[in-house]
Amino acid sequence: MELWRDKIKKTEPYVPGEQPEGKNIIKLNTNENPYPPSPMVKKAIDEYSCGNLRLYPSFVCKGLKSALSDIYNVGEEEIFLGNGSDEVLALCFMTFFNSDKAVLFPDITYSFYDVWCSLYGIPYERIPLDNDFRIVKEDYFKENGGVVIANPNAPTGIYMETGSIEEIIENNRDSIVIIDEAYIDFGGSSAVELIHKYDNLAVVQTFSKSRALAGIRVGCAMANAKLINALEAVKNSFNSYTLNSLSQAAAEAAARDTAYFEECCNKIINTRTWTVEELSKLGFETLPSCSNFIFTTNKNIDAGSLFEYLKSNGIIVRYFNKPRINQYLRITIGTDEQMKALIEAIRRYP
Ligand code: PMP
Repeated sequence: MELWRDKIKKTEPYVPGEQPEGKNIIKLNTNENPYPPSPMVKKAIDEYSCGNLRLYPSFVCKGLKSALSDIYNVGEEEIFLGNGSDEVLALCFMTFFNSDKAVLFPDITYSFYDVWCSLYGIPYERIPLDNDFRIVKEDYFKENGGVVIANPNAPTGIYMETGSIEEIIENNRDSIVIIDEAYIDFGGSSAVELIHKYDNLAVVQTFSKSRALAGIRVGCAMANAKLINALEAVKNSFNSYTLNSLSQAAAEAAARDTAYFEECCNKIINTRTWTVEELSKLGFETLPSCSNFIFTTNKNIDAGSLFEYLKSNGIIVRYFNKPRINQYLRITIGTDEQMKALIEAIRRYP
């Protein structure tokens, strides 16, 4: 009997949106940034010495940590870096969610959370969002083995004010609260300053969205130094060099170019406003988004059929055939031209 297969078989892996090869496809399915990374990233990559690849990367990641420390006003000892925020989150789950009590997260949220719980054998409870797809903070004021909240939430795009986030942290002093801020730069305000007030908070961010670097895989967690040390210990029991040296150089350059970062985020926010208005003229109702994507529905159009129709017209969005959300499409905000093409295509929907 192959006992090892038992647990692996039960683990349903996370399925990311597809990465099609075709050139003329309008790709609005994985919340990538439609703009290229900062020109400073190109400069850093051009100046990177290929001979350097001979060496193991720095596991201290001094340059990148110092850039993040300047931006977020946190100490370098309060920063943990990893190969994309997926890896950071996976290590956070492994490090912080260790009791036999259930970890709490919304019923509609990033679908990787239950995958990590299943993989590690962590019990969990999905707490229903309310009828407007909002997180009800009081539902998290009960005994648990940890809490994880994506803010803004995905795939709804809905943002929760920092005051409510703080109440959730305050009411869970005996467990760790992870706030996944993958989309925070598109209209929200980060909870990161609260790490100085609460030692049970870890804020996770990524370079994949607002800094247009999904391909280099860099993410971070910011928390009290004690939590960061615990994360480091787990990571170093697994792989000391999760972040390669080229990615470190590129991410540092991106982090330091604040003006370009703000310009890109503002462009995306303006395009989002335009898209929501145009969709509304076509009878769509869109949840209030603070993200680089929107979650939208139309009473008169079946979402699954619209998804297939758009795909056959070279526009890929995301459709989740799951309870409560199977009449919604999640659409990443692209460039103005891409969103105009999307609206035109929907207008022609038979
Ligand atoms: N959190 C959320 C809510 C996400 O949507 C994503 C992107 N799929 C991630 C984390 C992970 O992003 P990355 O690994 O590229 O940093």
